Amino acid sequence: RPAAAALESTATSYPTTHDKIVDVKDTPWFIDNKFVTSSTTQYIDLHDPATNNLVTRVPQNTDEELKAAVASAQKAFESWRNTSVLHRQAIMFKFVGLIRENWDRLAASITLEQGKTFADAKGDVLRGLQVAEAACAAPELLKGEVLEVAKDMETRSYREPLGVVAAICPFNFPAMIPLWCIPIATVTGNTLILKPSERDPGAAMILAELVQKAGFPEGVVNIVHGAHRTVNFILDEPAIKAISFVGGNKAGEYIFARGSANGKRVQANLGAKNHAAVLPDCNKNQFLNAVVGAAFGAAGQRCMALSTLVMVGETKNWLPELAERAKALNVNGGFEEGADLGPVISPQSKERIESLIASAEQEGATILLDGRGYKPAKYPNGNWIAPTIISNVTPSMKCYREEIFGPVLVCLNVETLDEAIELINSNEYGNGVAIFTRSGPTAETFRRRIEAGQVGINVPIPVPLPMFSFTGNKKSIAGGGASTFYGKPGVNFYTQLKTVTAHWAAQDAIGQKADVAMPTHS
Ligand code: NAD
Repeated sequence: RPAAAALESTATSYPTTHDKIVDVKDTPWFIDNKFVTSSTTQYIDLHDPATNNLVTRVPQNTDEELKAAVASAQKAFESWRNTSVLHRQAIMFKFVGLIRENWDRLAASITLEQGKTFADAKGDVLRGLQVAEAACAAPELLKGEVLEVAKDMETRSYREPLGVVAAICPFNFPAMIPLWCIPIATVTGNTLILKPSERDPGAAMILAELVQKAGFPEGVVNIVHGAHRTVNFILDEPAIKAISFVGGNKAGEYIFARGSANGKRVQANLGAKNHAAVLPDCNKNQFLNAVVGAAFGAAGQRCMALSTLVMVGETKNWLPELAERAKALNVNGGFEEGADLGPVISPQSKERIESLIASAEQEGATILLDGRGYKPAKYPNGNWIAPTIISNVTPSMKCYREEIFGPVLVCLNVETLDEAIELINSNEYGNGVAIFTRSGPTAETFRRRIEAGQVGINVPIPVPLPMFSFTGNKKSIAGGGASTFYGKPGVNFYTQLKTVTAHWAAQDAIGQKADVAMPTHS
């Protein structure tokens, strides 16, 4: 293999078909605004989920390379932190424009590596782009406060960058999650080391190219690759001051504990089991479309997928219509015209999802719609599961207790709104929840009493836009939800608050005796 070499760019032009790639290239890493071939001997093969053809090999960066990334980010921090916020804002505006220009290319890389449909992948990019757009308000977001706290005395507050920070990303939103981190971390004056998911780093590599083109100085954003080994390096590297993690509970709880024990700030968004409560007074047609879209879109591989339906009273009779609409969805390669959902990420994931469906069957639930065994004619080798609906589920069943993260909707029956709220609040996750009703008082009761952190009222995926923050709750966020992504809390996460209290008394107003009591300024 060629020795480590700097490349001009990723030079990866993403195909817009699932055809076999003849000239498979290894994914480079990104340091000092250059794409570099890793000198590693360890690679992770990345396959197109629709075909299982090899797309690229992702390097496990060597320890020397990881250390070099940190050194580069440390060096860059010294000057980057001293640039004016207007300068950083100007670069961010440029970055935003470039993301828009490369929108289709980013989306194509996502469809190829992650499997979601091209239209859905465009949404993945857009939700990240919106965070970058919001980050352009940095001069406003970074403003401190000032108060004349006593005569001749004022206290001012500043938000200062932390230094080198790191992001560890999941596979399911290859553009959006890196874009939850890159804009806010950098516009606030930090330098960032980002580790995309080893399963689909392509979109992050295109973003690196846009970072370079937007005029970020060398080392402000470096991208490293790998799995656990890279994560452990990030956790133990003293120069890294903060970690942003998005992913599952197993990795996230470990990362939160070890990162925090090492004295770092850690924000960690974790897994979910999102419920929808449906009331008989809702708009039935709207509900059916909303739940089918939110349960099966992206093949159920969204942390805000509506994977659990709580049917109140007679709404259980709507199941056949729900199954009919789910069955009508077109499961196909993400580049195919009219595809509604693509494959799941890997053969292992397909197997895990199918075994959860089988466990439901064994535990006495009803497989109302069975998506196992489905294969689109053109792509027989992909990781396919068509929409699956499991009814007569009870809370003790494995398919209810575990996050399925596939195109599977589990359905439970209750008789009253109170029972629905009790059931949902008994679940240990608390990412998102939705209620379908036309009654204001019902929605208000639900809103007040429900514990999940993101509530949709007739809205199936209530992910807040970037002027708010992503506010999962309970087991869906580490550290009790103290630190959330993007919005003002995102700015707070990436900055240290400093206060300055100054006394500017005239000379003749200062007496001769020292005051030894605790100053109260009152
Ligand atoms: P994952 O936890 O397997 O991987 C996430 C990252 O952690 C990857 O970069 C991976 O390399 C690393 N990692 C994985 N296992 C590790 C381990 N044992 N030790 C150290 N590092 C490890 O998650 P995923 O499968 O990529 O993503 C799906 C999960 O992410 C789902 O549970 C989903 O709910 C969750 N998610 C949550 C949100 C949210 O905002 N709450 C958003 C997107 C995804």
